[in-house]
Amino acid sequence: MAHVITTLCIRDGVCVEVCPVECIVPGPKDDPEWGKYFYIDPESCIDCGACAAECPVEAIFPEEDLPPEHAADAEMNAKFFQEGPGYWDFDLEEERVRD
Ligand code: SF4
Ligand code: SF4
Repeated sequence: MAHVITTLCIRDGVCVEVCPVECIVPGPKDDPEWGKYFYIDPESCIDCGACAAECPVEAIFPEEDLPPEHAADAEMNAKFFQEGPGYWDFDLEEERVRD
């Protein structure tokens, strides 16, 4: 199992700073398909929960606790790494969107 970032994500980037295995990646902000959210690689996530504890909008859930309305988001996270940009050389400060 893995943790999942849902469409509640506001791209502030805090989760990236606390993940011990660096498996959280922003969708490139100018990418029309992936640019709205950050994503967790389910193959590398160790389910430590650090990201969920720090997310200011509670956008991250353990996969088994995903609310029904966010069930599709698990597939979205996996797909980002399988078919989307995946691990790319991002600048977190440039990818953050702060209110
Ligand atoms: S901490 Fe939450 S809102 Fe911020 S980038 Fe991560 S998932 Fe998105
Ligand atoms: S649960 Fe832990 S390992 Fe998984 S994405 Fe969050 S911080 Fe990283």
